[in-house]
Amino acid sequence: MLKIVIASRNDGKISEIKDYSKQANKKIEWVTYKDAGGFPTVEEDGDTFFENAGLKAKAIADYTRMMVVADDSGLEVDALGGRPGIYSSRFAGIKATDEENRRKLLECLEGVSKEDRGAQFVCSLVLWDPNKGLIFDTRGICRGKIGLTEKGEGGFGYDCLFIPEGYHKTMAELAADQKNRISHRGRALASFYRFIENF
Ligand code: IMP
Repeated sequence: MLKIVIASRNDGKISEIKDYSKQANKKIEWVTYKDAGGFPTVEEDGDTFFENAGLKAKAIADYTRMMVVADDSGLEVDALGGRPGIYSSRFAGIKATDEENRRKLLECLEGVSKEDRGAQFVCSLVLWDPNKGLIFDTRGICRGKIGLTEKGEGGFGYDCLFIPEGYHKTMAELAADQKNRISHRGRALASFYRFIENF
């Protein structure tokens, strides 16, 4: 069985990556930061999701000497010119909580009509080999709108504010497997598994 490290300390991301694997043909033994007894902190100072995913993957591959998957993701809001983008996890400050980031987002969108609240979740996912470097990368996008208030208990981050296109519910009101079918991360994982099937 393929053994791959997930270069993240975000438990929401980790559980979505592990959940997705349950319905995939190719079996992967995922190794998390908990299994590895912790990871070094990685400076995410790239200019794009792809660059940051690569920085995380390389650092954790150097540290563990194992194959690594890294996901760098975030929310791009049309009315804010694509912000918070790569700064999604620190929108309200370096150590901001998800709740503080969501509050800041709602403040920034005060007075913006329902029609103009378009947004997208973006996920850049890379597979990194400790000896060969980058061996696969993909990008998943999920379009939607930012709601006026928080709704739902599932997911993490901005999920309770994000209403995916074609739905009347937020991402946080969807079942975990439903989110994984339509989300930016689910789409990136689908393409990752197509690659890994023949690996
Ligand atoms: P990263 O760990 O630097 O990739 O930061 C990702 C940040 O983007 C998270 O902290 C969330 O704020 C946001 N984000 C990414 N993916 C999702 C998602 O699936 N749902 C909600 N928020 C997300």
